[in-house]
Amino acid sequence: MFKCSIIVVTILNFLVLVTCGPAEQYRGHQVVEMIAKDVATANLLRAYVDNHNKDMDVWTLTPTACQVSVVGEQVDPLQKFCEENNIDFKVMIEDLEVAITEHMKRDAPTAIRSLTRSAETDEWFSRPQQEQKPFNYEEYNRFDDIAKELYRLQCAYPDIVDVTQIGLSHEKRPLLLVRITQNVLGCSSKKKPVIWIDGGTHAREWISVATPMWILRELVTKFGKDDDVTNLLMENEIMLSPVFNPDGYEYTFTGARLWRKTRTPTKKTDCLGIDANRNWDTEQFGGAGTSDDPCSPIYPGEFPEQDPAVRGFAQVLRYIRPRLKTYWTMHSFSQFLLTPNSYKREKPPTFRIFGGPAFVFVTTIISKSNRVYGTGNAIDFQNNLLTGLSLDYVHDALQIPYSYLLELPPSRQSPFGFALQKTEIDSVSKEVFCSMLAALNRIDEDIAARQQAATTVPPTTTIQTTFTTTKTTNLTTTPATLPSVKISTTTLQTEKPNEENSTTAASLQKTPESKLFSTPQRENSGSLENTTTNNSGDNYRTSRRR
Ligand SMILES: [Zn+2]
Repeated sequence: MFKCSIIVVTILNFLVLVTCGPAEQYRGHQVVEMIAKDVATANLLRAYVDNHNKDMDVWTLTPTACQVSVVGEQVDPLQKFCEENNIDFKVMIEDLEVAITEHMKRDAPTAIRSLTRSAETDEWFSRPQQEQKPFNYEEYNRFDDIAKELYRLQCAYPDIVDVTQIGLSHEKRPLLLVRITQNVLGCSSKKKPVIWIDGGTHAREWISVATPMWILRELVTKFGKDDDVTNLLMENEIMLSPVFNPDGYEYTFTGARLWRKTRTPTKKTDCLGIDANRNWDTEQFGGAGTSDDPCSPIYPGEFPEQDPAVRGFAQVLRYIRPRLKTYWTMHSFSQFLLTPNSYKREKPPTFRIFGGPAFVFVTTIISKSNRVYGTGNAIDFQNNLLTGLSLDYVHDALQIPYSYLLELPPSRQSPFGFALQKTEIDSVSKEVFCSMLAALNRIDEDIAARQQAATTVPPTTTIQTTFTTTKTTNLTTTPATLPSVKISTTTLQTEKPNEENSTTAASLQKTPESKLFSTPQRENSGSLENTTTNNSGDNYRTSRRR
């Protein structure tokens, strides 16, 4: 009887999801692609889209093309504008509501794995332990199931996994950070360099949540069995947050599948949400790539770190800054590794530091798969400036050169990129993890080379870096953007934090740890103590993984 009622309830849940939730808001919407034939018309197209940002949701932008979701009545004027300006116009999705309904049927879980709903009271309750299904890493999961799986991993792998709640979202969901390293509760773990990985900043980018979860499973199950993973966790601490924006992520299952922002209230009572990747304290905050309309999907908030998730994770990043070696934030879609800076056309001098590992990542992933990734800054990516991004905050304010934003598959030409099939999760994650390991190796080698040069090479001598200019015509970035460069010891001096930022970091270290971290599951989760390394991790003993 009980099993029958669960089946009925599950079917009801499915119907609820399909008929009146995440697809309904897109009734009458279409997705169109426009391709300009020259720079002048591309600029016209960009201006048109900017002026109509209330009616359109920009999905992808390249220097000459644009893919937008648009409400039905705006399609004709848009098509007319394109015809008048000789811009190619193509309808990619005729009926977005239908497309989302089909996608949800195919890719969304029908209920939270550990919960079910009573047919009598319409209330959620926990399923008995024996009826709960194991977590499936090859599907898109609800937030509660993800949180539960993180704590399960902590129990199953207590020597290498520690889950920390760093704060609460606006809707009071836990902001979770997983620490993974050998002897995670020991003192030695607090001296290791940190590799940061997060996903789910933008709610609708489901693959950016599934991939960090897949990487987490790979780390915990292969530690002690695979040399690369074992050495990685012996020498480093991975800090991983698979769901940066839990409120928005949940809303994509229950409210609107293509929701991008958080669910934090704004100055307009009828418009919720802040773009969690426009709310960081970077130069020109609230400038390019944002809208001051709180209803816009790219609303940056009234001030930096207004959103609780951004504020919470920024505080942790500042706290661990002396140990932070590299920062990777995952998004989708476009297959692109974005590097600093997004708010200006010119690449910063640190390009000669972060450019090599970026090139290694992209060439490795191309060699391992049939997917082509590009790399470069926002101008290379879409010929457009962006402000308030986390990778720029980490690069500029925290002075960590190895700061990256990874746009996962599919490619920009995909007709419905946010609906990447769940059957792709395994291959996408495998390629990304393998290529990240290659890039991390390159980072370690470069840091070791600079340390050696600083101590043994006379000041006038220069070091030839090893990244090549191999012609890879498939790359978005041309060889000209990744030249062979020489790093002098003078450059090394400039990598050190300046006085002002050092002071800021020092004052942040005084914040009581209890205010930053609370660990309801375990009393002694290990503190994240300050160490004496510099900002690029150069003082660490580096690993040479093979
Ligand atoms: Zn994103």
